[in-house]
Amino acid sequence: MTRRDWLGLLGSLGGLATAGAAKAQRKTDTPPDAPKIEKLLLTDAQWKQRLTAAQYQVLREEGTERAFTSPLNDEKRKGTFHCAGCDLALFGSDMKFDSGTGWPSFFTTLPGVFDTKRDFHLVLPRVEYHCARCGGHHGHVFNDGPKPTGLRYCNNGVALKFVPT
Ligand SMILES: [Zn+2]
Repeated sequence: MTRRDWLGLLGSLGGLATAGAAKAQRKTDTPPDAPKIEKLLLTDAQWKQRLTAAQYQVLREEGTERAFTSPLNDEKRKGTFHCAGCDLALFGSDMKFDSGTGWPSFFTTLPGVFDTKRDFHLVLPRVEYHCARCGGHHGHVFNDGPKPTGLRYCNNGVALKFVPT
């Protein structure tokens, strides 16, 4: 091996070590005090049985319902919004605001109930979020929401179930 080969090898080892460290340090959205959420894993056939066609399309195939079609847009009672897939409580009615977009919108969520990933469906990256228990797709989070968080969780109404208090 020449000196150049050695330098190349050392360089790639250094790169590997850095990548490993970055992976280990990667942060999650789940706050450390969040309750641990048990996963719900079902087969595709079980999901089809459990959900309506519209719910299945959004929750399991990352579809988007047409704007202004969900009765939950206008839901103003006190209560909790649950995942239509697994019944996990996701949002309180006090987290909801009228975004004018035609989809139920929230400026925050109950702690640790969603996992996120970046998607590039519209070329520009958007942050997709899904239920931490059943993995069901709910919507996208944008950073043009109101105070205090500045976030807008744009949620498909068909993926939610409202439970009044
Ligand atoms: Zn769920």
